Amino acid sequence: RTIMERKPEWLRAMFLHQSSHAARISASKVRHLMNDLHLNTVCKEANCPNLGECYAKQTATFMILGSQCTRNCGFCNVTCGKPDAVDPQEPDHVANAVKELGLKHVVITSVTRDDLPHGGAEHFARTTEAVRRENPKVTIELLIPDLKGDKESLDLVLASSPDILNHNMETVARLYPAVRPQARYERSLEVLRYCKEKGRGLLTKTGIMVGLGEEIPEVEKLMDDVLAVGCDILTIGQYLRPSMKHLPVVEYVYPDRFEHYRRVGLDKGFAFVASSPLVRSSYQAEDAFSACKQK
Ligand code: SF4
Ligand code: SF4
Repeated sequence: RTIMERKPEWLRAMFLHQSSHAARISASKVRHLMNDLHLNTVCKEANCPNLGECYAKQTATFMILGSQCTRNCGFCNVTCGKPDAVDPQEPDHVANAVKELGLKHVVITSVTRDDLPHGGAEHFARTTEAVRRENPKVTIELLIPDLKGDKESLDLVLASSPDILNHNMETVARLYPAVRPQARYERSLEVLRYCKEKGRGLLTKTGIMVGLGEEIPEVEKLMDDVLAVGCDILTIGQYLRPSMKHLPVVEYVYPDRFEHYRRVGLDKGFAFVASSPLVRSSYQAEDAFSACKQK
């Protein structure tokens, strides 16, 4: 039995609905382009169920700085291993891919590179600058690791003026030791606070997974904590276990609780909340940006 088979019926139905949407849209152009330019997208690597919808909306998530992470979070399918050499041509390749695909909104993320000076922040900045040079109208969202909370590294990223700075809290404070042992709840909050304060007009965003054993009041406390540091956008999705080696799913959260979180988040003051089982950090990213700009 695969892990997919053990999902509840309603979640399987959601997957099938999104996959059928994906099947209608040819992803072959994207696949060939990515191969030609030696680029990774999270959309493809993670086999994201939203791929068809996102490509149709001209949104994609690129993963820069290689495929090997220096951390090993218990929920994540990215390989932990000897990091790849940084490809100096990657910023230009991402910029060209954004142009070829005619993207309106691009999300750029990376593995964590604790081995690199400034955690690879310069490479993030070079990529943002290259994308903007080639595509002046595209909106750019950076989904960054915590960069160990180093202010110089964050300054390097912020100097490239992304439109949205996204850093995922991933889970509630109590579950950090089990879920993100190499990260710190307070440090991630501080990343969001610093970026909001230093990035002039910058929108900040964070995301969490649910189904890892968190309680409703803990999620609401997290909302209060990230709002207190000025965060504008929140995403909430179901944790799905990538393999038996990863943390088990404690609960498949019912859609009505996701709706509860969405309403509570909006009442508390977020400008945009995406909350549904298949929501991923970059899902509806362009909609979130547009909604915030209209407020
Ligand atoms: Fe890609 Fe994110 Fe959309 Fe998934 S939700 S297809 S990772 S942009
Ligand atoms: Fe995955 Fe990020 Fe953790 Fe690396 S730091 S294992 S990419 S979640």
